[in-house]
Amino acid sequence: MSDCIFCKIAKGDIPADKIYEDDELLAFKDIRPAAPVHFLIIPKRHIDSLLTTTKEDEALLGKMLGLTSVLARQQGLAAGYKTAINTGHAGGQEVFHLHLHVLGTPAQ
Ligand code: AMP
Ligand code: ZN
Repeated sequence: MSDCIFCKIAKGDIPADKIYEDDELLAFKDIRPAAPVHFLIIPKRHIDSLLTTTKEDEALLGKMLGLTSVLARQQGLAAGYKTAINTGHAGGQEVFHLHLHVLGTPAQ
């Protein structure tokens, strides 16, 4: 998807404050944080939203969820955090490249 902002971030064409990267996933800080810690986990491969995932994406989706606690701990959220995946216009999705929000406040 040449006009997709998160594909551009995944390719390195647009800068982002990256906190994790492997061959399939990328995590970076949200540009308009809604909490003291707010980062996004995305698949590097373009997927519009949860509305378009298939059975073949199950391992990737599991990997995204599994990564939340590892990165949350690294970001100071060992005590807990919120996750969200806004899905479709009716679900409040603004960027149509699948992304998982992780939000929280580091413990004092
Ligand atoms: P939503 O699609 O509603 O789940 O949210 C999209 C999220 O992407 C918002 O929280 C934005 O602040 C965030 N966002 C949009 N553009 C960028 C960007 N270039 N870098 C980091 N986060 C972004
Ligand atoms: Zn994309």
